[in-house]
Amino acid sequence: SEEQMLRSEKLSVIGQLAAGVAHEIRNPLTALKGFTQLLRSKYKDESSYFEIMAAELDRINLIVNEFMTLARPHLTSFEQGSFAEIIQSVLSILETQAILLNVEICCELEANLPMLYCNGNQLKQVFLNVVKNAIEAMPDGGKVHIQANMAETGKERLLHVRIHDEGPGIPNEVIRRLGEPFVTTKEKGTGLGLMVSTRIIEAHLGKLQIYNRQGKGTTVEITLPIKH
Ligand code: ADP
Ligand code: MG
Repeated sequence: SEEQMLRSEKLSVIGQLAAGVAHEIRNPLTALKGFTQLLRSKYKDESSYFEIMAAELDRINLIVNEFMTLARPHLTSFEQGSFAEIIQSVLSILETQAILLNVEICCELEANLPMLYCNGNQLKQVFLNVVKNAIEAMPDGGKVHIQANMAETGKERLLHVRIHDEGPGIPNEVIRRLGEPFVTTKEKGTGLGLMVSTRIIEAHLGKLQIYNRQGKGTTVEITLPIKH
C-alpha cells in the first residue's frame, strides 16, 4: 500500500542518515569514555560525577548502536544459524534482570528446529529487545512464555516464534505510534527497540506482529522463512 511504501521510504532515509551520523559519533564517544574512566580514578572524591558521565555516555552509545542497526540490514551478511542458540544466548544475557524482577521465563522449543538463513547477531538483537520488553512489562513479576515451532504453508516452511507476557499490554497511545522512533514510556527507554526489530525481521523477509490485549499482556509473533 501507499502508506507502507511511504513508511519504508522514511525508514531507509533514516537508515542512511543514521549510518553516517552514528559512525561519526562513535569515535569521539570512545575517547570520552576512556578519559572519563581515567579522571574517575584520578579524582576519587569527585568520582560520583564521573560515574554519571560514564553512564550517560553509555546511554548515548546504546542509542547510536541501535541507530547503526537501523542502517545495516541491507548491507548484512547471512549465514546458517540456529534459533535455539540465538535464544539461549539472549536468555543468558537477560537472566539477571529477570531474576531481579521476579520474572520466570518458560521457553518451549519444538525439537529439531531447522537452521535459519540469517544474520545471527541481528536476530539476537531482535529477541533481546522483545524479551526484554516482556520482562520490563512485569516489574512485579510474572511469566514470559517463549514458544517456537515449525509451520508449513503451501509453498514455504516457516519458523513461528511467540513471546507472550502477562503485563498490562502496550498502552494505546504507544500502539498508535508504533514504527515511529523514540516512542517510549520508560525512564531509560530509547523507543527504538521495536522499530529496529521490525526492520531486522523485514530484512530477513519475515514478519513481526504484535497482539495486544489491554490488561492481559502482549504477544509478539515473529515469523521467519526457513529458506530464501
Ligand atoms: P523501549 O523499550 O526502549 O521503550 P521499544 O521500542 O522496545 O522501546 O518499546 C516501545 C514502547 O512500547 C515501550 O516503552 C512500552 O511502552 C511499549 N511496549 C513494548 N513492549 C511491551 C510489552 N511487552 N508490554 C507492554 N508495553 C510494551
Ligand atoms: Mg525495548
